[in-house]
Amino acid sequence: MARSGCFPVVRRRRNMGVSRRKALKDLALGLALACWPGLARATGAGSGDPSAMDLAMQGQLLLAQGRGTEAVAALGKALSLEPESGWAWGLLGRAHILAGDPDQARTCFLMAVSLDPSDTYSQMMAEQVGRGSALPGLPGQDQLEDLEQQAQAERERFAMQGHAQDFVFRRVALDPGHGGFDPGAIGPTGLKEKDVALDIVRRTASLLERHAPGLDLLLTRHEDFFLPLSARTAAANQFGADLFVSLHVNAATRAGANGVETYFCSEQASSAGAERVARSENRALQYEDVQASPGLVSIEDILFRFERTRYWRAGAGAAAMAQARLVELLPGLENRGVHSANFVVLRKARMPAVLLETGFISHPREEARLRGTARRQEIAGAVAQAVVDMARQGVEP
Ligand SMILES: [Zn+2]
Repeated sequence: MARSGCFPVVRRRRNMGVSRRKALKDLALGLALACWPGLARATGAGSGDPSAMDLAMQGQLLLAQGRGTEAVAALGKALSLEPESGWAWGLLGRAHILAGDPDQARTCFLMAVSLDPSDTYSQMMAEQVGRGSALPGLPGQDQLEDLEQQAQAERERFAMQGHAQDFVFRRVALDPGHGGFDPGAIGPTGLKEKDVALDIVRRTASLLERHAPGLDLLLTRHEDFFLPLSARTAAANQFGADLFVSLHVNAATRAGANGVETYFCSEQASSAGAERVARSENRALQYEDVQASPGLVSIEDILFRFERTRYWRAGAGAAAMAQARLVELLPGLENRGVHSANFVVLRKARMPAVLLETGFISHPREEARLRGTARRQEIAGAVAQAVVDMARQGVEP
């Protein structure tokens, strides 16, 4: 369960009012009954009845077998038990297409999107179905199969990786870089790093919530506001995070520079380039009210010096894991390797901490891609999988 407290936290479930919940339930049942009146007899609850998840899985199987009407019935029943499942609404939409009812399908896809705004698949389907009022306007079977395969591939990537017992690290802090009056890097046409980072982290969190429900997530910020670097790690420390992932987009004076790199914390930078990136990411310090007290070192600081080297070593292991996965899943981006430097945002983390630089906003073509949701979703998918890797394997602090 996500924690509530003084820091923003990802909520596992929407707090839906009873009337909205009931309306969804009635709608689900109504849509299913319209296609399969026999369902009315089958909805009586009993102790041995299948769960909403069983029914949704059954619906998915029927869908794969091309049995649209039966899939509609099973999914309708699943949704009457669990009306907040965006995933099941998406499946029901596909079942209605198969059963030859595009209007109902569109309603279902729109429901899926309203429950999960990051569900780009349902969004796309709602638009496609909306464009064609009759069946000939629907996506062709080949096209549909492509879309289905994409959705299937996404599910399989995460398959069997999501439950609590699968993770060594359960609590993960996700930190979208910059925010508020600190825009971070700015692209040639004005796209801001703070906005891209926030959107990618939100998408990552949404993917993890769906596919890795065993993880407990903290977002250091979920809106566009300024957060001091030290507050980000303090939030993660207070949350008791096992892993800290700060997400950024890089910039360079050379317009052609592009690619992905992962950092961990060290006293000395591993290269001049790493030094430059850390200097740029530490620039937010200028906005912070840092009390300089020369010559005064707290006992806590001295003790933490011993402790932090363990976290930094573990950060190196986590960074290698993350970089390997990002490079694999983002083939369009050059592998710029793992580096280390003195990042203020990582420095006081009491856990392995990494900082990801996912592409260069200063690269004109990359900036254009980063404006679109497809690139952001692609990066979020890679980051989510990297988080799953690190959380599954863990790294010795
Ligand atoms: Zn940044």
